[in-house]
Amino acid sequence: MGTSPQRARQPGFDIVVNSAGNSTWRGDDLLLGAESGWVEARTSCDHLSSLSSDLLHIPTPHTPCNRCHHPSENWLCLCCKDVLCSRFVNKHMLQHFQQSNHSVALSYSDLSVWCFVCEAYLDAQVIPQLRSVHEIAYILKFGQAPPVRTVEFPKVEDNQADDTLGS
Ligand SMILES: [Zn+2]
Ligand SMILES: [Zn+2]
Ligand SMILES: [Zn+2]
Repeated sequence: MGTSPQRARQPGFDIVVNSAGNSTWRGDDLLLGAESGWVEARTSCDHLSSLSSDLLHIPTPHTPCNRCHHPSENWLCLCCKDVLCSRFVNKHMLQHFQQSNHSVALSYSDLSVWCFVCEAYLDAQVIPQLRSVHEIAYILKFGQAPPVRTVEFPKVEDNQADDTLGS
């Protein structure tokens, strides 16, 4: 726990959730982040209304770019499920956003979610509309479910059985 792959490039990752359910970032980490070049992940985004209604079935992380067939590290458009290459290859995901206004995409290289309108990463484990597709992409890429933030595996049945026997 605590060393999940998608957080590897976010040293000092530390969310503080306030009573309104919004996450803020500790000042020290914001400073560190500015220096090391990473940006904070937003916990809300106003551009999720165009998300695909079926994000339970998505292309595998090994799908090549639909335009230039670049083989890896592509982006999945979460609005139409097109797989397109990054701005460091042939910018096909960026062009897709400019042409279609589909702004939310998931990176198959590190499973981060980017909104082109917010120009920010979105925290897919906090935003409800993104949680399941992030989890599915994680399973497709790593073959196992991502580490959960709230553990919900009740393992009390055995203890209860013992109690009943003893009394
Ligand atoms: Zn947005
Ligand atoms: Zn491409
Ligand atoms: Zn799209």
